[in-house]
Amino acid sequence: HGQLFIVATPIGNLEDITARALRVLAEVDVIAAEDTRHSAKLMQHFSINTPLIACHDHNERDLAERLIARMQGGDSVALISDAGTPLISDPGYHLVRQVREAGLKVVPVPGACAMVAALSAAGLPSDRFAFEGFLPAKSAGRQARLAALAEDERTLIFYEAPHRLLESLKDMQAAFGEQRQAVLARELTKTFETLHGAPLAELVAWVAADSNQQRGECAVLVAPWQRPEGEESLDAHTLKVLDALLAELP
Ligand code: SAM
Repeated sequence: HGQLFIVATPIGNLEDITARALRVLAEVDVIAAEDTRHSAKLMQHFSINTPLIACHDHNERDLAERLIARMQGGDSVALISDAGTPLISDPGYHLVRQVREAGLKVVPVPGACAMVAALSAAGLPSDRFAFEGFLPAKSAGRQARLAALAEDERTLIFYEAPHRLLESLKDMQAAFGEQRQAVLARELTKTFETLHGAPLAELVAWVAADSNQQRGECAVLVAPWQRPEGEESLDAHTLKVLDALLAELP
């Protein structure tokens, strides 16, 4: 049986493709790509002639069945997305799940991923982090999501569309406070790469004052919530007992 390779491609700088990725992409029988026209350019750059077929959110389940049949016939398949690692805020989850359920092998071929690149250079705690992907597009949904994360003790990582960056940063400032440290990671690995860290209020002002910062591809990282000095930390069970006892007090 053939295998399904999940192949990371660059997030900007073409030098970030790995030697293994190039070999696998050249050797497989077919490459499932999020946008075949976009990926055709990448393949052309590396002189790879493997046929491309489209794999996007709307055809992923049907495509999975067709690819599984081909893999059972011995063909091997690579999945790529427009940039970075497939399945990370990109299509592929249904394909991977169905292929694994069919008892076929899925092999990761790791490489560039914007959130890992951003975290590795942001200077925020990296021992525990939460990747939140894209926030809801509408402000009510976005504010609700941010409120739920306000006391998270992990570094938070968000992907954002450039035209929503300023609005999202303002909502983060409202949810997390003006003083919470954050880092804007923009155009990583490209000519105008920027990693700018500041308290949220300053970051909002900085982005608002410079429209160049509202262009290109960006991720936002937010420092973990810190318990205010002197505030005791009680676990959920203790708090429940305390609540029950308090309710009994005259
Ligand atoms: N699969 C990709 C990965 O591994 O990072 C992410 C795909 S997602 C559809 C695209 C988002 O990733 C962008 O809106 C941006 O938030 C982030 N992103 C991608 N490339 C980036 C870059 N070069 N610099 C900063 N953020 C980037």
